[in-house]
Amino acid sequence: MAKIVCVLYDDPVDGYPQSYARDSIPEIRVYPDGQTAPPPEAIDFVPGHLLGSVSGELGLRKFLEARGHTLIVTSDKDGEGCELDRHLHDADIVISQPFWPAYLTRERIAKAPRLKLALTAGIGSDHVDLQAAMERGITVAEITYCNSISVAEHVVMMILGLVRNYIPSYQWVVKGGWNIADCVARSYDLEGMQVGTVAAGRIGLAVLKRLQPFDVQLHYTDRHRLAPEVERELNLTFHPTVESMIRVCDVVTINCPLHPETEHMFDEVMLAKMKRGAYIINTARGKICDRDAIASALESGQLAGYAGDVWFPQPAPQDHPWRSMPYHGMTPHISGTSLSAQARYAAGVREVLECWFDGRPIREEYLIVDGGKLAGMGAHSYSEGDATGGSEEAARFKKTA
Ligand code: NDP
Repeated sequence: MAKIVCVLYDDPVDGYPQSYARDSIPEIRVYPDGQTAPPPEAIDFVPGHLLGSVSGELGLRKFLEARGHTLIVTSDKDGEGCELDRHLHDADIVISQPFWPAYLTRERIAKAPRLKLALTAGIGSDHVDLQAAMERGITVAEITYCNSISVAEHVVMMILGLVRNYIPSYQWVVKGGWNIADCVARSYDLEGMQVGTVAAGRIGLAVLKRLQPFDVQLHYTDRHRLAPEVERELNLTFHPTVESMIRVCDVVTINCPLHPETEHMFDEVMLAKMKRGAYIINTARGKICDRDAIASALESGQLAGYAGDVWFPQPAPQDHPWRSMPYHGMTPHISGTSLSAQARYAAGVREVLECWFDGRPIREEYLIVDGGKLAGMGAHSYSEGDATGGSEEAARFKKTA
């Protein structure tokens, strides 16, 4: 029988919800490219309920315990003696969400001799040292597409929020003011702007499609080019390099995975090549941007705004400069964990576990590492190596409530 350690974020400060704002969520059966949403044999949760926090348990307990497995659920994942570390010595499977990542570094993997499966309840497995996982023969899988559209919606919201100066204007209302000039002194229309995405995968392409009706000029760069009919339909300009794209863009949205090739892609040198007053929206991974270079570019005016929901490490320490830098629209890592998304990735986790325990193959599109090498989606979108360096800094975060 297996021991499964599931690392989830804390419940709301006022307790696990007893009721919800809405009674149901739309059921998405098929994603835009035809991939089916997860069809596990059964689910033991109510879609639309909070599943990603500790008490939600991703709806897994009944299923796992009925099969005789042991499920440990904890949010205590960082620092000496944390609960995650205490369970690694006999854990067979570790499940983690990117929003509150259990960093599976080489050191932690060495402490987990039985670990066979690192499962990401979401998309993006950069919190696992993929190189160490390959060397140890650990399978790494994620729930591809489960929250790609959730993120794309968030990106569009954040682009508009920054360009139109929404958050400071909202704050004037809350403060009791009517300071129109203060609000509009940094407010523009998106119409007519040059907008580009770094990567046109599931999220990047969905962002492009959603932005087309805004009458902007759309750009993208990616390792693989989109089909000519897609480029024509969206009137896309392809750039072979990130540098070529960012030179012409007013708004840049980052939608590639974090792997050694993309780590610190947006450093001081790259930022200096952008148009003065450009905006960056990064919902991909914090480490794709250099922390201090972003803060400096906002202070100097090289960037007019930066928004996103991804940080490094997570949770971000209280003194992380992105909490206090000017003209930012940062939130905690939330875009891919709406209640709608949780229902899909909880079902996807259940689907993967059913396959794993029944000896059936995991869907190819869910695989990142398998058989000692990058596999499935991982082979397409990642590069070998490790992007977890520095993750121990997450232990510096102090709970405020
Ligand atoms: P996809 O795999 O569909 O898309 C990723 C794209 O990135 C692929 O088209 C890939 O290219 C491209 N890419 C990889 N490396 C590079 C590079 N060096 N330069 C340019 N493009 C590159 O994944 P999704 O769109 O669903 O998700 C993308 C990322 O977004 C995830 O990996 C994750 O980090 C993040 N994410 C964030 C969430 C949040 O809550 N904030 C939730 C979900 C995802 P190709 O495959 O053509 O080689």
